[in-house]
Amino acid sequence: MAGLNVILLGPPGAGKGTQAERIRQEFGLVHVSTGDMLREAVAQGTELGARAKSFMDAGELVPDEVVTGIVAERLGQPDAAAGFLLDGFPRSLAQAEELDRQLEASGRRVTLAVAIAVPEAELLQRLTGRRLCRQCQKPYHTVFSPPKVENICDECGGEIYQRSDDSEATVQNRLEVYRKQTEPLIGYYRKLGVPTEIDGVGHPDEIYERIREILARAREQLDC
Ligand code: AMP
Repeated sequence: MAGLNVILLGPPGAGKGTQAERIRQEFGLVHVSTGDMLREAVAQGTELGARAKSFMDAGELVPDEVVTGIVAERLGQPDAAAGFLLDGFPRSLAQAEELDRQLEASGRRVTLAVAIAVPEAELLQRLTGRRLCRQCQKPYHTVFSPPKVENICDECGGEIYQRSDDSEATVQNRLEVYRKQTEPLIGYYRKLGVPTEIDGVGHPDEIYERIREILARAREQLDC
């Protein structure tokens, strides 16, 4: 049976990470987040982390060859054959084309690209107020969903922090990089006949429902 191979597209702050976690739980897909992998490499002080850090701090894209390499390695592992969910990748046309080449070489293809749309003013508000637990990564927001005790995670007691690239200046740049380099991918996937745009405004549960329906339909079609 072919796997459900899904790409989550959308600007920074669209809720890709939040939705990806829910999709992973329900659909059992391997969740590949390049942002998480790169942050982990920076935290561990690896060579990859050292190459990526300055780009990430500035809100720029890490060079394509660095990112496509780590994705190829992850998607080449046996568990990814049953279906995967890419979050934060591809982010440029070159990355999308390289992904297609890699998948074709192993008899796979992208089943679905889901683009989450959110107006820019809301993205700015979401990102600059975003906080995360350092330990379990649970997301918080200074205004909309603060923790019960300041700076302490409700779930695991871990320390809550702000990502260094969520400062206002870096967020502006990340949104601009998205508009210029990543948004054109919606057109790329439209040509391949696999894009779906969904409204990313509302409660995360409602947004998940919109995504869930689309994925469930795609899975049914694959199973036929
Ligand atoms: P994210 O957590 O997806 O917002 O990613 C955080 C940062 O990691 C981005 O601003 C980029 O610097 C870098 N990054 C993540 N994914 C990619 C990618 N596919 N291509 C290039 N850079 C990336």
